[in-house]
Formats: sequence, structure tokens, C-alpha cells
Amino acid sequence: MIRFRLSGLNGWHDCQRRVAFGSLKDHVSGLSDIERSTASHIGSAVGTASHAGAEYLLKAKKDDKIATVTDAEEYAVDEFLGELNNSEFCFDDQTCDRNEAIQQIRQITRIFEAYMLDKLNPLRIEERFNYIMGCVEFSGQIDLQTKDLCLWDLKTSKLLGSFFAQIGGYSIAMNKNDIDTGESCNVIHIPRLKIKKAPYVHEVTYGTLDCEKVAKKYMAQIERLFSTFLDCENPNIFNANPSSTLCSNKYCPIFGTEFCSVSRMNPKINKVL
Ligand code: SF4
Repeated sequence: MIRFRLSGLNGWHDCQRRVAFGSLKDHVSGLSDIERSTASHIGSAVGTASHAGAEYLLKAKKDDKIATVTDAEEYAVDEFLGELNNSEFCFDDQTCDRNEAIQQIRQITRIFEAYMLDKLNPLRIEERFNYIMGCVEFSGQIDLQTKDLCLWDLKTSKLLGSFFAQIGGYSIAMNKNDIDTGESCNVIHIPRLKIKKAPYVHEVTYGTLDCEKVAKKYMAQIERLFSTFLDCENPNIFNANPSSTLCSNKYCPIFGTEFCSVSRMNPKINKVL
């Protein structure tokens, strides 16, 4: 059985091969030897720690306990420092060092508390759901389901991407586990910004059925292609997108490897004039 993380549905339309490799490398012998080592991106560490801060506040609210935003900030920063000690991270223009990351985590946690917490009545927080389709086990952990059954997902990326496939996948997996979901689902976007920039929060609402429709299509494609790959072991069955913004040495663990021969083609430049 191949495990596929539902968060991978967001990148499926961008580059199937990159996303597929992430699931297949632990299941097909020899594939993990192909992987180049890439340092984790600081954006994901800031996101994980900020989620911990939001989760701390939501759990306290659900359990009728008192939690200050300072407690939540400290909890989030501790999570971050723990992760920083265990992995290597590459910083970027948006987060140039450890101190800037800590300030961003504190800021995202404060914004979440100030602008979102009051309106959210938690029912389920950070629960995992699985759904098996053929040779694939789809697995995902929701951030939050509120008492009106709506799903909520916190995103801290620099830019607001399209996350409807991931949320649609969560909804499908929950329904398959006999848990109802509401008519709409939401993304809370609190971006990782340079500290001198004014912070903001966006709330994006999608229709759950529309999200499920996209997720269902991707999940069927994934199951079909993974099953074919197990027979032929030919990576070319997955579409590759060398125009992806993540197609580089820095962001793709198979850039320049035999699993993605298209990324090995260096253009030959002939002088014309
Ligand atoms: S190297 Fe580029 S085209 Fe190949 S899998 Fe990675 S992102 Fe996709």
C-alpha cells in the first residue's frame, strides 16, 4: 500500500512527478537512493510552529481553559527551536535568519488570536483521517472542523495559493469515515512577511462540493498512475513540469536525477548575432 499525503493534492496540477516521488520513494526499492538531499525550507518550519501556536489556542478554547496569547507564542517558538535543532534549514529573502523566523511565528500567532479565534468554535482539532482507494492510502490531518461542520486550514505561505484540492480530499476522507462536513470550507491565510511590513489576514471560502470534485479527479488519477508505476517503474508516466517555480536544485529533491530526465536537459546556446 502506498501512502499519499492529501496535502500533496495541491501540487499535483503543478508537477505530478515531483509529488509522486514523495510518496513512491519509501515504497519502491532503490528509489530513495535517487533522492538528492535538500535542506528543509524555513517557510515550512515557520508554518509548522505557527500551526502549533494556533492549535494551542484552539485546544484551550475547546476545553474551556485559559490560555494567553503569550503562552501560545512561547509554545510555538519552543516547537520551532526543537525543529531547528534537529534539521538543516535554508533561509530565504523573506526569513533571513533564526531571529526573523521567531518574530514571524510570534506575529502569526498574535494575528490568529486577535482576528480569528473569537469566531471559531472548535469541534475537531488536528485529527488524522485515512481513506484507501486501490493501492493507495490517502492520509491527511485537518487543522480544524468547527461546530457548524466547516473545515478550516491555516496557511502561512508568502503568497496565497490554491488549496481547494487538499481541503476537498480532507472532506472526502472524513465522509468515508462517516463524518459529515459542512457546505463550505475555509482557508485562513496569515502570510510569513518581513517584520517591517504591515501584517494581514485573508479568509478564503470555497464550496465543499467543488473542492471534492477536483480532489476526486486527482485521487483517481493518482491511484491509476501509481498502480501503473508499480508494474512498469517508468517515471515518464507522471507529467513533469520544468516551468514550475519549484523546478530547481533548491526545491525539488529529484532535480537533475534519473527520475526526472527532463530536468537534466541543459539548453545549448548558439550565438546567432
Ligand atoms: S525537476 Fe522539475 S519537472 Fe522534474 S519533478 Fe522536479 S519540479 Fe518536476
